Amino acid sequence: MPARIVDASFITSASRVEEAPAEGVGEVVFLGRSNVGKSSLLNSLTHRKNLAKRSATPGKTRLINYFEVVYKDDEADQKYTVHFVDLPGFGYAKVSKSMKNEWQKSLNFFIKNRRTIRLFVHLRDARHPDEPIDDDVKNYISGFIQPDQCYLEVFTKSDKLKQKEMAKILREHPDALLVSNLKKRGIERLESLIFDIVIRGAACR
Ligand code: GDP
Repeated sequence: MPARIVDASFITSASRVEEAPAEGVGEVVFLGRSNVGKSSLLNSLTHRKNLAKRSATPGKTRLINYFEVVYKDDEADQKYTVHFVDLPGFGYAKVSKSMKNEWQKSLNFFIKNRRTIRLFVHLRDARHPDEPIDDDVKNYISGFIQPDQCYLEVFTKSDKLKQKEMAKILREHPDALLVSNLKKRGIERLESLIFDIVIRGAACR
């Protein structure tokens, strides 16, 4: 039985990157366009209904949300803590230009310099797998990602796709995962992949 998430709690919402918790615990950063299903995925992964608030106003929040997540490895009878970091506005925020620039600069600095980030989980909507803005985000991350960090592309809402369409995504993105919050598909796989990378130090896909 692989390691599973047994507990999760909200730590803080930082309105400035300086308010982020002290570095230490391994971090998983989740980013994606608003409405991609990020809150739903965080809830599915942590087996909670309301851990991540469903965004009422898409793109409005400009915060870094921190969650403490506890994994239990039954074989070793051990618990391990990781931090999930939800970046609601990253690269996509529909905010005024000046705010966007200021916030964006700050976020860019954060994700480039935060040494405890082990994994970037980039969420893309499986119904729109070729959005240029998502390609930009992917390229942007690949420009600064460190050898001790991984990048994982996760296509959400796979329940909306036919088998053929899913196969096409995986052909074009062989390292990607397809998930559905609705059907709870691919969630356990992602859950254990995060553990393997962040806690076990497994190689990236
Ligand atoms: P966020 O803005 O990225 O946090 O997205 P939400 O988690 O709030 O989800 C946005 C919308 O997509 C909501 O209406 C969800 O019910 C829907 N949604 C989320 N996950 C799935 C999924 O796996 N399948 C389908 N069909 N809809 C989903």
